[in-house]
Amino acid sequence: MNRTIGFVAALLSVLLSANFSHAQSGKPGVERLYILNCGEGVASDVSRWSPGVDEGKSMDFVDNCYLIKHAQGWMLWDTGIPDAVAAMPNGLAPADPKSIFWHRPKTLAAQLDQLGVKPSDIKAMAVSHTHPDHIGNVEMFPATMLYVQKAEYEWPGANGEPRFKPGHPVTRLEGDHDIFGDGSVIVLSTPGHTPGHQSLLVKLPHTGAVVLSGDAVHFKSNWDNRRVPSINFSKEQTLASMQKISETMTKEKAQFWINHDKPQRDSLKLSPEFYD
Ligand SMILES: [Zn+2]
Repeated sequence: MNRTIGFVAALLSVLLSANFSHAQSGKPGVERLYILNCGEGVASDVSRWSPGVDEGKSMDFVDNCYLIKHAQGWMLWDTGIPDAVAAMPNGLAPADPKSIFWHRPKTLAAQLDQLGVKPSDIKAMAVSHTHPDHIGNVEMFPATMLYVQKAEYEWPGANGEPRFKPGHPVTRLEGDHDIFGDGSVIVLSTPGHTPGHQSLLVKLPHTGAVVLSGDAVHFKSNWDNRRVPSINFSKEQTLASMQKISETMTKEKAQFWINHDKPQRDSLKLSPEFYD
């Protein structure tokens, strides 16, 4: 009996969400995805991310934000380093000299403006985790619902500071989450780099499925060799999350777009071009 009720409830919710997205624009699901330049940097010692490998070698990093146009509204994945860095002639020096020296060739605000998107148009926002190169512009969108793992939200910052402005609208997640209720944009819980790290599965109508890494891995050779940065919160969780991503990619026939991987990003189209 319970199973029958459960089945009917599940069927109803599928039908309702499908009707809802049709009603909005006549076309369900994700329409477009834009890759925005949210920073460019140089790491002076890349072995910080690949212990024992390439010690003392520098590596170029990029930092992306991803803007998704869904039939139900706009969504932003990650917010990059703060727009204020664009006005710093020498860029933003890292606290740890082995880490990344960031520049911001373009602001996030200017790239949204170029697309005719106002910050208030963005209905949903999710960040992979709370390191400064991912949350730098969260408060450009003070009314946008933020989707973040509870474990990340409650992870105490420096001096016990909250990770986000306490008044910001938030949905605290405990695991995977289907943002629009139609299976087209799914937050994947991928802890390890930080306690509540997450990645994003996006299903595009022509491009197909894409997994946006966050910092589950930082560049392709680390992915190929399953290397875990020494700075990560948990090595075991990081490896389990890489396995989960790999299984998701197989199941969904998904591409894997690694946020900080410059050679890969240079091979992809940047906004105002887009993927559909
Ligand atoms: Zn990062």
